[in-house]
Amino acid sequence: MTAKDAPVLVVGGGIGGLATALALSRKGIPVQVLEQAPEFKEIGAGIQLGPNVFRMFELLGLTKDIFHWAAFPTSLEMRDSITGESVVEMRIDKLYERYNAPYGVIHRADLLNVIHDACQRSNLITLSTSQKVVAIEDDGSGITARTDTGESYRGAALVGCDGLWSTVRQHIVGDGKPVVSGHIAYRAVLPTKDWPKEYRLPKMIIWAGDKTHLVHYPLRRGELFNLVVVFHSDRYEEGWDTYGDPAELHARFADKCEPVRELLKKVDAWKMWVLCDRPPIKNWTKGRITLLGDAAHPMLQYLAQGGNMAMEDAVCLADTIEVSGRDYAAAFQKYQELRYLRTARVQIMARVYGEVYHANAVAREVRNKVLREWAAQGGIDMSWLYGEQPELPRVDNVPLPPVTQLVS
Ligand SMILES: Cc1cc2nc3c(=O)[nH]c(=O)nc-3n(C[C@H](O)[C@H](O)[C@H](O)COP(=O)(O)OP(=O)(O)OC[C@H]3O[C@@H](n4cnc5c(N)ncnc54)[C@H](O)[C@@H]3O)c2cc1C
Repeated sequence: MTAKDAPVLVVGGGIGGLATALALSRKGIPVQVLEQAPEFKEIGAGIQLGPNVFRMFELLGLTKDIFHWAAFPTSLEMRDSITGESVVEMRIDKLYERYNAPYGVIHRADLLNVIHDACQRSNLITLSTSQKVVAIEDDGSGITARTDTGESYRGAALVGCDGLWSTVRQHIVGDGKPVVSGHIAYRAVLPTKDWPKEYRLPKMIIWAGDKTHLVHYPLRRGELFNLVVVFHSDRYEEGWDTYGDPAELHARFADKCEPVRELLKKVDAWKMWVLCDRPPIKNWTKGRITLLGDAAHPMLQYLAQGGNMAMEDAVCLADTIEVSGRDYAAAFQKYQELRYLRTARVQIMARVYGEVYHANAVAREVRNKVLREWAAQGGIDMSWLYGEQPELPRVDNVPLPPVTQLVS
């Protein structure tokens, strides 16, 4: 085996890592995925899928399976969580006409399973679990990754897809811990039968209030409902995937309108996330080692794009490797050059959208007025985010999605 034919080592088997493995395998490149957890598993709830990521699904041959599992809400409604009034409602099914791709929502586990199944069907991908990468060496002719079980893996190059707390990032960038935003998310998923009938709508509803919001939408073809609650708190420093305290949540929302307080009571077991990001950087590559997804450009969730960006990265990376004739060092430089401004813009704008969601006092009134004006003009132009990108292969048309049926 020549150095060029050695596998690419992918550290981390989340959305970014498995999408990378799949994208590389479709270019004929062998891949070894190293995941620290005992299984490939996504914890958490729903994830929003912008029109931009549907083009990536199409390129990776995943559209049919994603359509099977996703839900496609028809509109996005913002309500004021203090007065309960509807601020604005925008048709998201109409985004298809504008961007030639739909807007959908999916359970994270379903998304990961779809990508994982596709990886398993490829004889170029080796998937290994319980392999936490603890050390990386580049000896000039290849990369060696060592794991906490004492095993070592040899590859032609390495892609760090190991998320917000990336070990590979510390090797390349060395910028320490992520930035704690002071925003906390509580998430839960309920069977639709346990969700109040009046809210069993094919809509995404955001109840926006000062320094808080609640969002709910259907998942899995309408069989489930997803709830995300966010509030500001400096009580927490770091950590994720722990149980949330319902008493704290109810106290934070005590001044909100009755429907919001009632909806929060529908959930007994919340999972909690301490939301973090990092300032954008433009160099996340060192020789034949690079970063992808949250490891490269973690962002707050207010634009619902972290996973979407990881999928775009994966497609772009596979393309640049192919174009370079598997000159990994050159390809990784090119990939970073093609991606950093786009991902930095999303990181920055996600923070701005957080301010918009949680505006109070006069800022809240300005927000409501501006949103209504935009809606009256046919909605805000999001081409910069949802439109075709020059660094990504062209996709002429993603098929029309199915209509989401809600279980009554
Ligand atoms: C509340 C919330 C809501 C969100 N909503 C959306 C949304 O609607 N749409 C959207 O697109 N994005 C959303 N995101 C962002 C999205 O979840 C992330 O951007 C996405 O999961 C990043 O994927 P990743 O593969 O880069 O990292 P991760 O999902 O973090 O995966 C990293 C993987 O690497 C493994 N790993 C870590 N260290 C090692 C190691 N040393 N060795 C081996 N394996 C390792 C981990 O176990 C994990 O499996 C949201 C995030 C949050 C917190």
